[in-house]
Amino acid sequence: MENNNCDLAIIGSGLTGLSAAIAAYSRNPDLKIKLFGIPFDSNTAKKGEIENIPGINKIVGVDFIQQLVQQVESFNLEFAQDKLGEERAEETSDTQVPEEMKQDFPKIIVTNEMISSVSKSESGFEIKTEQETIKSNAIIISTGVPELKQTIKGEDEFEHKGVSYCAVCDGALYRGKKVAIIGKGNFVARGTLFLRKYCRKITLLCPTDELKCDKRFLKKLQLAQNIVIKTGIDLSTIEISGTQMVQGLRYREDDEVKDISVNGVFIELKDKPDFSIFANLNLEKTSEGFIKTNENGSTNVEGVFAAGTVKGELDYAPILMGDGYKTGYHATNSLKKKD
Ligand SMILES: Cc1cc2nc3c(=O)[nH]c(=O)nc-3n(C[C@H](O)[C@H](O)[C@H](O)COP(=O)(O)OP(=O)(O)OC[C@H]3O[C@@H](n4cnc5c(N)ncnc54)[C@H](O)[C@@H]3O)c2cc1C
Repeated sequence: MENNNCDLAIIGSGLTGLSAAIAAYSRNPDLKIKLFGIPFDSNTAKKGEIENIPGINKIVGVDFIQQLVQQVESFNLEFAQDKLGEERAEETSDTQVPEEMKQDFPKIIVTNEMISSVSKSESGFEIKTEQETIKSNAIIISTGVPELKQTIKGEDEFEHKGVSYCAVCDGALYRGKKVAIIGKGNFVARGTLFLRKYCRKITLLCPTDELKCDKRFLKKLQLAQNIVIKTGIDLSTIEISGTQMVQGLRYREDDEVKDISVNGVFIELKDKPDFSIFANLNLEKTSEGFIKTNENGSTNVEGVFAAGTVKGELDYAPILMGDGYKTGYHATNSLKKKD
């Protein structure tokens, strides 16, 4: 195998992709695995605390991603030690493995590179980044679902001037202020509960008739004195206004136009996944536009697997990790069969 090629390319290095890499390595440490994407730009790294991973009480997202990356990289160290020979490894602590030795035997490479296109080649797949073209025998797609932008009137105009896409990242900037948050489900519930600690008043505008979040969140939201929840709000009626910075928000509720004064608007809407980089593969989709897979994560294209939110999986860290792990396991098995 040429140096920059790999057996398995995992496209997307959030917690789904990192879990897939751990599974693939555990199943077959002889595989060369490349992980594309930016772990510290994943949803988990950017957003708050996670508190529902079995065995972990509470962890800040970016710390959790850091731990997963370290775990993945420790496999390279382990491999380097194995290559050094049992005898020497015994007298060599982790830190004593020479740097060049670790470089010589990277089994899982976290590239921090974004992919521009993927196409089928004779023996597998050709993956293009800005820097290079890599060949891989199989791929796992775990690119996640981006935030939905340019849906709300005034959103563009006031981005960085009071409009934010991450309550957890920017909430503290609005200490003592009135803000609005737009979205549904656990994303928006968690974001609102976070804002509660800092903001004087939070108006939550939800496009669906129910918030569709976990009951434990709903209870906390309903109990909070400084949170007002408005459901069934048509997103097309919402308009952000101001001069230099956000000053107000208009929306329609039961045919009545409402104007509220706010200093910040947090937009926590999620988009459909973007599969344009995989267009050449002709992947089959579900009626909702997600990648269609079998139970083991395989798609209609041999050698292509998909894991996590790209296939419409429930957006919970433990579920995504399990799905990533399962898919990594099966993708590795499919390579074994080829051998
Ligand atoms: C506010 C908030 C709070 C949350 N809290 C919790 C919680 O408490 N508990 C819980 O269970 N879940 C929580 N979640 C949900 C869950 O953790 C995330 O949605 C999850 O991180 C999604 O993981 P993912 O791996 O599928 O995708 P992402 O984390 O979105 O990762 C996608 C990866 O794909 C890469 N990528 C994208 N495009 C390309 C490309 N062209 N080439 C290469 N790479 C690419 C990115 O760089 C990134 O590494 C929360 C989510 C949010 C937004």
